[in-house]
Amino acid sequence: SDHDEIRKAIARQAPREWLWTTADMVDAMKGRPVGDLPEGIDGISIDSRSIGPGEAFFAIKGDRFDGHDFASSAVASGAALLVVAESRLPALGRVRAPMIVVDDVLEAMARLGVAARARTKARIIAVTGSVGKTTTKEMLRHVLSAQGSVHASVASFNNHWGVPLTLARMPKDTAFGVFEIGMNHAGEIRPLVKMVRPHIAIVTAIAAAHLGNFKNISEIAAAKAEIFEGVELGGHALINRDSEKFAQLKKAAAACDIANVHAFGAHRQTDIKLVSWEPLENGSSAEFKILGETVAVSVGVPGHHVVQNALAVAGAAKLAGADLRTVVKSFADLSPAKGRGARHVLDAGRGTLTVIDDSYNANPASMRAGIALLRDTPLAEGGRRIAVLGDMLELGNSSKKLHAELRTPIVEAGIDLLLLGGPEMKALADTVGDAIACRHYETVEALEPALLETVRSGDVVLIKSSNGIGFSRLVSALVDKF
Ligand code: ATP
Ligand code: MG
Repeated sequence: SDHDEIRKAIARQAPREWLWTTADMVDAMKGRPVGDLPEGIDGISIDSRSIGPGEAFFAIKGDRFDGHDFASSAVASGAALLVVAESRLPALGRVRAPMIVVDDVLEAMARLGVAARARTKARIIAVTGSVGKTTTKEMLRHVLSAQGSVHASVASFNNHWGVPLTLARMPKDTAFGVFEIGMNHAGEIRPLVKMVRPHIAIVTAIAAAHLGNFKNISEIAAAKAEIFEGVELGGHALINRDSEKFAQLKKAAAACDIANVHAFGAHRQTDIKLVSWEPLENGSSAEFKILGETVAVSVGVPGHHVVQNALAVAGAAKLAGADLRTVVKSFADLSPAKGRGARHVLDAGRGTLTVIDDSYNANPASMRAGIALLRDTPLAEGGRRIAVLGDMLELGNSSKKLHAELRTPIVEAGIDLLLLGGPEMKALADTVGDAIACRHYETVEALEPALLETVRSGDVVLIKSSNGIGFSRLVSALVDKF
């Protein structure tokens, strides 16, 4: 029909935009094509459970799984192409699909990532730090989306496979690339940032986290400072002036010949400055002075730490060429990610109970941020501030001490009731003594009924622990049963 003819004509005019043509992939990865390769692919996946039709499946070998064992299920889910290791070919005997065969699949993915970086004109921002990486990355995604296409890491895909995967997935015409880069050991960030080659590097904050692998916090700062080694010529470093080890980081950035080192924070000597800040019911209002430009800001997610992240985001966005006023407007409609400060206002017909779900992550810095958030949350008459805190994991030898040290911020915040769960939290319970009402439970299972029995309308409850402790079930229990 005429209609079909017109459609075909349009299709001829606008050639298909592949994420990658397979010719470019073969070239970038130095792979060996096997079978009848499609012209191109629409996406890249390393997970056969979530792969979409038309995507390439990279058979990565992890600690527990080897992607090659899932190649046939990836094909069944519509994978258009497999990228597999030469050495595993015999094991793939029955899998019928076009393939690119390489020596090492992870290395090939990294090569493709490097090619993705080389072909783009995007402004690239990299984010590291002990806390707030994902929050900052998601904020950047949100505010920059109003100004151009954004490509950003999924979840916390920030390690030796997450960063190359994110890079390889970056479309050619991306305007802004935002990368989360994390580490558990010294030396992990260096090779990753050299692939990412950011124009702008942000260090959100330095704190005791994953301390098990480090002697002290200076060693942590030194490992985070590796991010400066990959910054492009003429690029920018943004460092938190109000966090620990600022001077060390600044020195490290200078040693990498970074053209522009910026401090952000409330401190006087910052060029990305938090001029003022005020907590509101459902967020904050603030004033920023970003490289000479003053703006009024309203942030849609509560917490001083969120404002700190927003400050770095505003600075980075302006440096990346975004319009600051547009950026600042979109802070108002931010929403917290699951388990990172999301609020549930529960109403069982006898007034409301406010639950702050911060159950995804905890270390000494984010615990303090959470306690400050509870302190700053407005309270109804007769209501109480209740902190339900669970173990902070991966703190090595200092674990007991770091748990006990939470006493001071908790007492200073005027928390009315403290419910603690997990063996490490015993150390805090022991030092709190009679300073405030406190109960300790060995397990989350024992804590749950006590919590349900204790809360009443008017209360504000903060739920916070490392994810592995399973405190998210406390949030579900309150939502279901209050
Ligand atoms: P991960 O290492 O698990 O990827 P991350 O660095 O990505 O962590 P986020 O997920 O952004 O961190 O935040 C985790 C928690 O840290 C938040 O729920 C919040 O409690 C706290 N947090 C976020 N930003 C800051 C900050 N700037 N200072 C202190 N605490 C923060
Ligand atoms: Mg993260």
